[in-house]
Amino acid sequence: MRVTPVVKDLVLIGGGHAHVHVLKSFGMKPMPGLRITLIARDVETPYSGMLPGFIAGHYTREDCHIDLRPLARFAGARLIHDEAVGLDLAQRRVACRGRPPIAYDVVSIDIGSTPHLGSIPGAAEHATPVKPIDRLAERWERIMERVRHSKALVRFLTVGGGAAGVELTLSMRHRLRGLLQERGQDPDRVSFTLVTREEILTSHNASVRRWFRDLLGLRGVGVVEQNAVERVDEASVLCSNGDRIGFDELIWVTQAGAASWLVDTGLELDEGGFIKIDATLRALSDPYVFAAGDVASNVEHPRPKAGVFAVRQGPPLAANLRRALAGEAALPFVPQRKFLSLISTGDRCAVASRGRLAAQGATLWHLKDWIDRRWMRNYKELPQMAPAAASGADDPLRALQADPMRCGGCGAKVGAAGLARVMARLEPRGDPSVQIGLGAPDDAAVVSPPQGKLLVQTVDFFRALIDDPYLFGRIAANHALGDIYAMGAEPLTALATATVPYGLEDKVEEELYQMLRGGLDVLEEAGAVLVGGHSGEGAELALGFTINGAVDPDRVLRKSGMRVGDRLILTKPLGTGALFAAEMRGKAKGAWIDRALSVMQQPSREAARCIREASASASTDVTGFGLLGHLIEMLRASRVDAALFLDAVPALDGALETLAEGISSSLAPENLRQRRAILNLDAAAGMPTYPLLFDPQTAGGLLASVPQSNVVECIAELHRLGYTQAAVVGQVLEMRASEPCITIVEAAEIPTRGRSAAVAEVA
Ligand SMILES: Cc1cc2nc3c(=O)[nH]c(=O)nc-3n(C[C@H](O)[C@H](O)[C@H](O)COP(=O)(O)OP(=O)(O)OC[C@H]3O[C@@H](n4cnc5c(N)ncnc54)[C@H](O)[C@@H]3O)c2cc1C
Repeated sequence: MRVTPVVKDLVLIGGGHAHVHVLKSFGMKPMPGLRITLIARDVETPYSGMLPGFIAGHYTREDCHIDLRPLARFAGARLIHDEAVGLDLAQRRVACRGRPPIAYDVVSIDIGSTPHLGSIPGAAEHATPVKPIDRLAERWERIMERVRHSKALVRFLTVGGGAAGVELTLSMRHRLRGLLQERGQDPDRVSFTLVTREEILTSHNASVRRWFRDLLGLRGVGVVEQNAVERVDEASVLCSNGDRIGFDELIWVTQAGAASWLVDTGLELDEGGFIKIDATLRALSDPYVFAAGDVASNVEHPRPKAGVFAVRQGPPLAANLRRALAGEAALPFVPQRKFLSLISTGDRCAVASRGRLAAQGATLWHLKDWIDRRWMRNYKELPQMAPAAASGADDPLRALQADPMRCGGCGAKVGAAGLARVMARLEPRGDPSVQIGLGAPDDAAVVSPPQGKLLVQTVDFFRALIDDPYLFGRIAANHALGDIYAMGAEPLTALATATVPYGLEDKVEEELYQMLRGGLDVLEEAGAVLVGGHSGEGAELALGFTINGAVDPDRVLRKSGMRVGDRLILTKPLGTGALFAAEMRGKAKGAWIDRALSVMQQPSREAARCIREASASASTDVTGFGLLGHLIEMLRASRVDAALFLDAVPALDGALETLAEGISSSLAPENLRQRRAILNLDAAAGMPTYPLLFDPQTAGGLLASVPQSNVVECIAELHRLGYTQAAVVGQVLEMRASEPCITIVEAAEIPTRGRSAAVAEVA
């Protein structure tokens, strides 16, 4: 929870080599009043120095990626998993691909570079660029699959003769020949050629070039130098000398290019499209913009595009961002001229190159391995930090820009002017049924209820579980809509209740706008109209919606309709409670949280339609009480018992690992009390999915009872609609006592004799 009001916004675009240091530095020494936002296209940022080792099979994917989520949490930074696609220098906003622009006081860009394919006809269609590395990693898995199963020769062609191109070619050769030999197949079923417009390794000395030429020759890699690729067709490239070189896999490792969106920013760029910066790492054309790594072109100290320079820019960048935010002058940084390159040869050997120095051997590979792993550890093994104390006299931001904070009374409302500005930016859509709404705000909204329908009303409100206000808004709206869909209804109108942390007026406004924008986008996608609400300041970001829906009187789905013999269907996997508890401790992998966030944003509308078409007899949405708590509510209301297929209960990635580590939501102990309803607790308690039963869900799925005859079709349809983990998790049984009870059925019993038989035996 934030302890000091937001006074300034620092936005970091890209999780590059310099920015990971900036994040760590602000985690080690926070700047009270500063809100840091990291916009990252990939939540796990690759360390390209280890990429050849990953391709060669010396490293796992995890070894060569930094998980930005725990690092951002360590820095107290918000992580926005999205791609920046533009900059509004005048308004100081970053445009993103999938959400509203993000405001900044100071922005720093470290987004690296990507090989330029666009300039060669056919390259974009037929070549695999080395960057973005995540896409190469995915493609590499498919390439290995292809080599494993192909009976014919697979020809690899690498375009680009720099260190990266040479390293990757030798690494691919090492791995694929090894893979074929392991399978007792002919390793010569893969061949390798490298083509380059100049000589290979032009930025390295003659000895290094000679060594690699000999080595490539020795290993049967064809090398075509001084020959540019001019066009790429489906299975061959045309070179400047008219030669054609055939390929089955084309890997593109040419010179780095800049992201195309930079052209429209108005920033001064060099001929390659890279951002011109001065010695303080500040953009020449805008004092509020900094840049580092490949994307930057240092006009005072030009250097080649290499990770080592991006790494070394980390500390001066962090220091200059602090100075800029405190209104102090940024200081110049002079990068080293030469650097030691350790170029791996596919096996665990490497060639060292620096100026005229050249050396080779296995020791050098182990040196490179040691250097790379040590660097990675800096950003993977993060120290436990004491929570930041409220700022004192040494708080440069407070001294600079103190703004009288608001009192707590008068409902702590967000100011009228600010609210009006937020509403104006939101532009909520109207609806003929809304007589009085946000179009002409009044003390209350006036809505005409639909003829012949029943009104369904629900309310939800909760504190933010993530610090991305837009995404939180989307999740809060989806969570509230879950109740409407569980009742078989369609949403009509909504009222928002929002709390934003204290801060400067424009910061509060921006946070409120982002959060409401997220909620509104989901409500309008669901066909609902925002007609009003209440916004106030408070200690934490929180949001809730009161939603009115409509349902045909004969189509109301209740908790109390379950029929004996029905099957229980759960539409979404469980685990959000534990995962976000782990995330708060910096113990959840970014990929897990990303998956959970995408499931939480999945509306239950189609699932509700699907279970209704499968003649569901009852349903509810699984939220705070956990699966067991919500099931017991249904059983109690329906006066029935149930069998639960515990091992069939779907879990989100990482949820079981997290629970096994003893991390659970603060609500779980309360939910655990419901376990009394389980008859065979001993059998259940030992199963890995048991703790999931008590895990509170946010924007969870639907739990419905569906006639057995419709189950297979219903599950198939749910999977087709994108509820890929929807599953049958139980069966409704006759009630045997005054209170509902649940029997856990063991997995082993189910397949052979069929579920009903196993259950009948237990019943
Ligand atoms: C195969 C290979 C091997 C290499 N080996 C070495 C080596 O051994 N030593 C060396 O010094 N250099 C090496 N390099 C060069 C080195 O990779 C680059 O110079 C280095 O990665 C640049 O670092 P960076 O911080 O600028 O960007 P990157 O490391 O590329 O990081 C950029 C980050 O920004 C994110 N991003 C990109 N666009 C956006 C966007 N629009 N919005 C939000 N986020 C975005 C990406 O997801 C990524 O996380 C190698 C390069 C390759 C391809």
